[in-house]
Amino acid sequence: MSKASTHAKLSLQTKLLLVLSLILTLVLLASSALSYRQALHSNEQASEARTVALIDTFEKLIQRSTLLFENQVNQISVESYLRDNSNQTAPKALSLYSGINAIRILNLDGSEIRRWSAQRESHFPPKGLHASLFNQVLERQRPVSRIFCERICYQSSYIPVITSDGDILVINAVRDLQELIVDFASLTGADALLLKPQTGENQGANLLDVYIASNADSTFELLGEIQQLSGFLNSREFVYTRTSKGIHFAQSHILSDDISATPLQLAIIGDDQNAQARIQELLRSNLYAALGALTITIFLCYLTLRTTLKKLVNLSNAIAMLSSSNYGALRDSLSPYTRNPVFIDEVDQLNLIVLEVADALETMEQSVSHNRNELVKKIQELGDAQDFNDVLVNDSPLVIVAHTLEGKIKLLNNYARELSGWYSSNIETQKISDLILPDLSGRSITELLKPLKDQRGTRIQTEQLMRGAGGKVNDLTWIHARVNTGGEPLIISVGLDITERRRTESRLRWLSKHDNVTDLLNRESFHEEANLLIQQYGNTHRIDFALLDIDKFASINDMYGFQNGDVVLKETARYIERLIDCDTIIARTGPNEFSALMILDAQGELGVSPQSSHPVLGRALRFYSALNNDAVEITISGMLATYPQDGYTIDELVSNASAALRKLGPLQKGKINRLLESVDNRALRQERIQIHDNIVKALSDDRFILLYQPIYNLGEERITHCECLVRMRSEEGHLISPAAFMDIAKEHGLMSRLDLVVLRMALIQLREWSVEGLDLKLSVNITAATFESDLFIKELKSLLLETGAPPSRLIFEIVETEAIDNLSTAKELCERLAELDIQIAFDDFGIGFTSFEYLRDLPVDYIKIDQSFIRYLYKRKSDQLLVKSMVDMAIALGKKVIAEGVEDDGSADILRTMGVHYLQGYYISRPRAVADLELDYKMVTI
Ligand code: C2E
Ligand code: MG
Ligand code: MG
Repeated sequence: MSKASTHAKLSLQTKLLLVLSLILTLVLLASSALSYRQALHSNEQASEARTVALIDTFEKLIQRSTLLFENQVNQISVESYLRDNSNQTAPKALSLYSGINAIRILNLDGSEIRRWSAQRESHFPPKGLHASLFNQVLERQRPVSRIFCERICYQSSYIPVITSDGDILVINAVRDLQELIVDFASLTGADALLLKPQTGENQGANLLDVYIASNADSTFELLGEIQQLSGFLNSREFVYTRTSKGIHFAQSHILSDDISATPLQLAIIGDDQNAQARIQELLRSNLYAALGALTITIFLCYLTLRTTLKKLVNLSNAIAMLSSSNYGALRDSLSPYTRNPVFIDEVDQLNLIVLEVADALETMEQSVSHNRNELVKKIQELGDAQDFNDVLVNDSPLVIVAHTLEGKIKLLNNYARELSGWYSSNIETQKISDLILPDLSGRSITELLKPLKDQRGTRIQTEQLMRGAGGKVNDLTWIHARVNTGGEPLIISVGLDITERRRTESRLRWLSKHDNVTDLLNRESFHEEANLLIQQYGNTHRIDFALLDIDKFASINDMYGFQNGDVVLKETARYIERLIDCDTIIARTGPNEFSALMILDAQGELGVSPQSSHPVLGRALRFYSALNNDAVEITISGMLATYPQDGYTIDELVSNASAALRKLGPLQKGKINRLLESVDNRALRQERIQIHDNIVKALSDDRFILLYQPIYNLGEERITHCECLVRMRSEEGHLISPAAFMDIAKEHGLMSRLDLVVLRMALIQLREWSVEGLDLKLSVNITAATFESDLFIKELKSLLLETGAPPSRLIFEIVETEAIDNLSTAKELCERLAELDIQIAFDDFGIGFTSFEYLRDLPVDYIKIDQSFIRYLYKRKSDQLLVKSMVDMAIALGKKVIAEGVEDDGSADILRTMGVHYLQGYYISRPRAVADLELDYKMVTI
């Protein structure tokens, strides 16, 4: 859970509104308080001005009232009153003015003529004051009035009057001022008090001498309280104060002596309670108005900020998504606010910035994750490479030795340790020369590696024995390379153990020359050897050739099975070996056919003359074989031919003997018969001469045509090659196979001509295919007679020029045995063809098998395993073994392998699993005319 969510939530909007409300409230309160204070202050000032005006009013009121009073007194008809001596009639003024206290009329000398009093007690001024005022009247000749106070205050007015008689009299009228004060109060609403002026520190209300007050009961008390609070009577300052009865203002004033004869202080006290209430009312209504304004303001603020705040809240939530890399959700949540903003505010800008930041972060995250993945991949690859190296060094069946230039061993891989038996960890004391033995010419490894040490090369290949565990030696082929790793330069020697291969090779060599059932020579080697012997002894010795057949061998096979058939074959071989005890080579040349070439002395073995019989001649050839507990009689029929009477070559001897053997009568069976030249034989010779003539004629008549046999590429699962195979067309239009004329053409030296005719046709076809855009290579067979010729390359170049065929699509097939017979020429030819970008295939590979060594030196691209190994591959385990080793070795030497004569799917499958690259044979297609080729053939694989 995030830290923020653990706290109580208070929305931003609420916070903002609260703060706003608080500020506005404070401002409101402060301004209200200020305006209240100002209102109070101005009210106070107004009260002060009003007080000054009240004092002035009071004085004016006295003056006006005095004038009025004096006027009224002046109205008094003094004479009529004087005339009435009874003193009973009070002047009218007394009734007119309820406030008049007493009136008296005085003579100019001051003597009193008459007096009236409204009350029992009259309050005329004291004598001194009276005298002074009276004198002033006399002096001024006009009325004089003065206030004087005793217990209360009175005004005494002296008014001179002239009687009708011309006498001057003075009327002295006294009135009390109570009424005046009351009038003042009712007129102004303020209270007035007259009192003895206050001096010194006397502030006590109780000590005040108040003569008169407008509202005696309450005012006196109020005066005392205000005096108590402010001492305003003493200071004569304006006072505005809160009293127990409300808010009051007050000021005192000393009345001038024109008005008052007694020192007299006027105190004005006003009640401001109403003004205060008004102010408070005003304040209240202001507050209500402000409160309303505040509410409206907050509401308006809320309305204005609502969307922005909502965006802000949304933004804050969205920003939280950045931390969880939830960019999609972030974009979704912002999109309502960023899609079409009309008036962009800061929050919108922030939204857009956040989107940009999200994009940038996402890109960054993606690139970080991409880089991280790359890094992981790189680490993985490095790991894999390391594993690969480890596997290569330690688990591969290769001997790997690292040693210094001085021959000190630094590293031995597992296989090297296993093979050498050097398991001890102390290998560093060992030397490379202790491990790798000198080569056949006796040169030590140190000597052989000298060029590497002297930096005269970087790589050397040798074949040397390696000392093995338990005194064994192993045959290895080595590659030595100098590596300059950071520090000391090292030589890495990598050896491939070929001990087993060598063994297989020699076994193969033997197998290739022998029949694996009887251990006798096979047909091909017999022919080779026989030819050699004929060449060697033909002129000096008598040479006989015997062809022997087991009678009814097919029925033996049928009755007793192939295994017993093989037993019979073995026993027959041994029987023949015993039978012929002169210098001889014996071979199994057919399924139940044996051949023997016998070298007799010049006179014939055992003194038998050539024309006379041979020791085996006419002898019954039979023995018993125990087959399934039966003693089965095996009889052998044979034909004896003599060189050169019955044939100049071994082939002629064989064919003549064979023809005669097939024609033996029942009586001639079971023994060896002498060949007598028959009519058939003569006819055969005649036929061969005929064929020769035909070939020559066909060459000049252009009667050779090409058929094409497709070759299937197992890697690409399509036809990528074709082999062209020649056919001779007879004058009657029949196609004649090479088997029928090739030997005769070879014998009579016609092959080079024929090969060039074929090559020309092949190149024209190749050019056509390349123009058509077909991706096809074409194999052309050439014989030794052709490639040995000095002119061959020249003619080839001119044919290439003439036809415009692409040389890179041309392959020459050379029969392996022919190439081996002319190894140096073949090697040179291969090199020259390679220069022209033409490839080479070894045809009929395996028949003349001697060793693979020569293959390494020849830049041959393909080997074509002879069909005799392939034809029964599916049935024969021995063939499978042979083919497998041929394929393995060819692949090890970097050659492509073609299997010829594939006739069934079983063989095709086996060849596929063996790693053969191409298949050729009737299973794919028979040789056909170009127009009939099916080049889009695809093998059905399960
Ligand atoms: P080759 O070069 O080994 O050709 C393969 C022979 O095997 C061809 O016979 C072909 O028809 C045959 N063949 C292909 N597949 C099968 C199969 O599945 N079963 C069987 N039983 N046979 C198959 P062909 O055409 O009679 O040629 C025989 C030999 O004559 C060739 O053997 C080659 O050595 C030679 N030859 C053919 N044409 C020429 C040529 O133009 N010039 C030269 N110098 N020699 C040629
Ligand atoms: Mg061929
Ligand atoms: Mg072949």
